[in-house]
Amino acid sequence: MAIIEVSHMKKSFGPLDVLKDVSFDIQRNEVVAVIGPSGSGKSTMLRSLVHLEEINGGSIKVQDQYLVKDGAYSAPKQIKTITSRMGMVFQHFNLFPHLTVQENLALAPKYVKKESKDEVNRRGTALLQKVGLADKAGVYPANLSGGQKQRVAIARALMMNPDILLFDEPTSALDPELTGEVLEVIKQLARENMTMIIVTHEMGFARDVADRILFMDHGQVIESGTPEQIFYHPKTDRTREFLNRAM
Ligand code: ADP
Ligand code: MG
Repeated sequence: MAIIEVSHMKKSFGPLDVLKDVSFDIQRNEVVAVIGPSGSGKSTMLRSLVHLEEINGGSIKVQDQYLVKDGAYSAPKQIKTITSRMGMVFQHFNLFPHLTVQENLALAPKYVKKESKDEVNRRGTALLQKVGLADKAGVYPANLSGGQKQRVAIARALMMNPDILLFDEPTSALDPELTGEVLEVIKQLARENMTMIIVTHEMGFARDVADRILFMDHGQVIESGTPEQIFYHPKTDRTREFLNRAM
């Protein structure tokens, strides 16, 4: 069953057509890795799904509710309901520097979901444990490594109990020796059947973790298939050329 259905999505910034008629589905419990050259529209696609960008045409349906249908956005309340089911993890972590780890985790559940302090603290502790940072609750982001910051960002996204997690190049701001600890957390979530869309340039990771790969180029989905199909039997020259450069 499709949890996200995107059809004929178009997005331009001024004269620049960044997404040109993009269509794809994401199934429940599916892990989809999105690969493609820099500037191909991967971030814009992801940001559009969570309404950080507004598209200029096409439809996005999440769990049978339209975020936008044929270019017309739903009412703000429905948009909020839909986007609250999705968690996003950014390349640059986007933690609040003036808040401790625990406070970063607590912010959205407290103010958006109006959850009790006890409940928020309990879940925050459990999620920090899950990402291997139980001892960092009282620490400020400046005193964490990049890999630790990104693991906090993942825990923070999980605090809202999302049905879908979106990752935008979660390891590309990290020193190589710190990527493993972040990828391991994402792999663990995959084993727990979390539905995820992961934009990544880590081809080995994409091959290992993804049920399906989407290859984007110049604002289009060029090819979609299993890792086996995309990496070992690409159908198009563009996919082949990209993989030759990336692997
Ligand atoms: P990717 O994530 O695949 O590198 P992006 O979605 O970030 O690609 O960008 C796709 C294209 O859109 C690029 O040419 C980029 O410069 C342009 N772009 C992205 N965001 C904006 C914006 N807010 N304003 C103008 N152009 C943008
Ligand atoms: Mg990007």
